[in-house]
Amino acid sequence: MRGCFPAPAFISGAASSAITQIVWGRRKDPLFQFSVWSSTSSCLVYNSNKHAERRRRRWLSLSEATSRGRGGLQQQQCECESESREDNEWVVVNFYQFVLIKDAEAEVAKHLNFLKGRDIRGRIYVNEQGINAQYSGPSRDALAYVEWVREDERFANCLVQISAAPTGHAFPKLKLRYKPSLVQLEGGISHLPLLDPSMRATPLAPSEWRKRLEAANGSTTADASTQNPRPNYILLDVRNGYEWDIGHFSGARRPDVDCFRSTSFGLCQPEVIAADPLANVDKETDILMYCTGGIRCDVYSTILRQQGFQNLYTLKGGVSHYLKNEGPLQWVGNLFVFDSRLSLPPAAYKPEAITEPNRVEVSENNTFARCYICGLEVCELRHRNCANLDCNLLYLCCMNCVEDLRGCCCSKCTTAPRLRPVLQGPHRYEKWHTYRDLISQSKSTA
Ligand SMILES: [Zn+2]
Ligand SMILES: [Zn+2]
Repeated sequence: MRGCFPAPAFISGAASSAITQIVWGRRKDPLFQFSVWSSTSSCLVYNSNKHAERRRRRWLSLSEATSRGRGGLQQQQCECESESREDNEWVVVNFYQFVLIKDAEAEVAKHLNFLKGRDIRGRIYVNEQGINAQYSGPSRDALAYVEWVREDERFANCLVQISAAPTGHAFPKLKLRYKPSLVQLEGGISHLPLLDPSMRATPLAPSEWRKRLEAANGSTTADASTQNPRPNYILLDVRNGYEWDIGHFSGARRPDVDCFRSTSFGLCQPEVIAADPLANVDKETDILMYCTGGIRCDVYSTILRQQGFQNLYTLKGGVSHYLKNEGPLQWVGNLFVFDSRLSLPPAAYKPEAITEPNRVEVSENNTFARCYICGLEVCELRHRNCANLDCNLLYLCCMNCVEDLRGCCCSKCTTAPRLRPVLQGPHRYEKWHTYRDLISQSKSTA
């Protein structure tokens, strides 16, 4: 084996099991580039070996890194993946940070400049309240960008989440710009005290979150003495209703809003009070809130704080961070993601959890997932868009209804002028012109 790990001296602290502070180590030499990112509950060890003109990269999870310890890291076999795999190693990267950016326009320009010539696509928004980024790219570009961002101390503490994008780019193009709201919410968020951590919910590490849910839901992995059939908190899914439809924490109610931007939990508006899980709730009740990556909870918790709720907790790093650390325990179904992959099974985040015998607590019970058209159970926990381009509804559908309505959401859509062929497999539709050209070609040859 050529090119194994470099001497681990500079990662002291990071590879111990009790990581309490951010470590951001970096070393460059002709053979190795090696970085460690860690925070209280996450650590990614990134190893890149440069063999002559080639680079090889491999991520290790915290559990791998910590179980080996420092000495282990030194002695372990090379983790390089095969060359064919590396060529196809695409990733989606997510991170956000609420922090004062005095000159946001200048910050945007700086980032655009860094990304020149790099193959990055996605949504990267910047304003005076911080940065919110979701993007895809080949790992060399995707990771170089986030490394560069984190060299700036304002962003050094942000939690970076990385997942595989097996089919390449997960976004159609790069949108990197100033945006007045980093998160879409009715009325905007620029007036919210997002930069004050005390106004936001207290982040719970994934393991703490799991323990609280296990205690309430009853679980074979929880200590029997902690089992309690009635939760002593309110579990709030702070996402869109359609995200809940393909997966959620067990015990979480479906959000009554189709869209997070119109969320109004706890605001006691008369028209929503009946459906509001926070209506008439004691302001001292523990409220556990979660979303995909954490940002929506950070935003919404400041609103609840202003409403007087005192005990607000959020799942640090959201569901994606949870699945990576805890596997599918207490989670049912898949996770909706806002890119072309649409839906990821828990195994995409932590494959080993599925095969660990005593941690197989994956709910096989997906009966909560229902076809939008016929109401029957669906097997594929993935939304599709209506084949009628001018409808484009995102909906969950059983295979019978897909066939019957040729990929449309209703019979009316099946007669629409701009119909795309039925979407096969776990993809999203291509741009309209690819179908338009095919359709006109087949007409002319017919
Ligand atoms: Zn159906
Ligand atoms: Zn439709």
